[in-house]
Amino acid sequence: MRAKIESESGVVAHDIYGLTEISGPGVAGDCGCGGLHVWEDHYYPEIVDPETLQPLPDGEQGELVFTTLDRFGTPMVRYRTRDLTRLRPGVCPHCGRTMRVMDRVSARSDDMLIIHGVNVFPSQIETALLRIPEIAPHYQIVLTPTETLDLFEIKVELTPEAFSDNIRALETLRKRVLAAIKQIIGLTPKIILVEPNTLPRSEGKIKRVIDNRRK
Ligand SMILES: [Zn+2]
Repeated sequence: MRAKIESESGVVAHDIYGLTEISGPGVAGDCGCGGLHVWEDHYYPEIVDPETLQPLPDGEQGELVFTTLDRFGTPMVRYRTRDLTRLRPGVCPHCGRTMRVMDRVSARSDDMLIIHGVNVFPSQIETALLRIPEIAPHYQIVLTPTETLDLFEIKVELTPEAFSDNIRALETLRKRVLAAIKQIIGLTPKIILVEPNTLPRSEGKIKRVIDNRRK
C-alpha cells in the first residue's frame, strides 16, 4: 500500500508509530531504514518476554514496553503495548541517528493463536492474503474442536471481479490461497472461498477469529 501511495502521489511516505496511552502518534518514526527510531529522549523502550515479563537484550523479539520520561500527569512505567517487535542494536546505518530503531510491529502478543501446537498470528494470514489480488482481503479464522485434531478453517472473501461460476478457476484460486498461507505458517488449513461482502462486519472491521475451542 505504501509503494502504491508513493508511486501514485509522488510523495515519500514515512511510517510513524504511537499509541494513545503514551502520546498518540509520534513515539517513533522511520528514516528510510525500514524500521522506526524511538524518540528515546521522551520514551524509554524495552523489549520483554511476554510470558515472564523479563527484559530481553537488543535484537531479540518480544513485547515492547514504554516508560515515559517527561510526563507528569499520567506517567507510565513499563507500559505494555502488546506489540511484538525488536530493538536493533547500535547506530542506524541509514541516517546515523543514535536513538534505537524498532522493527515494524509484526504482531500483537494478545492475538496469538495456538493451532495444532503451532503459534499462529492473524497478521500472518493477512500477509499471505495480501499477495493475492483476487481476494478482498477479508477473512475469518474458524477453529472447532473435534475428537482428534482441531478443525482449522479460513473463510476468504472473493472480490466482486474474482467471483465466478467457473469452478475450475475458483479451485485454482483456492489452491493458490492455501499455498500462500501454508508457506507462511506451515499448516494446512481448510480454505473456504465465500462470496463478496458476506463475512460479517462490525464498525468496518470483521471479527477475524471465531475460536469455538474456548468455552
Ligand atoms: Zn535512521
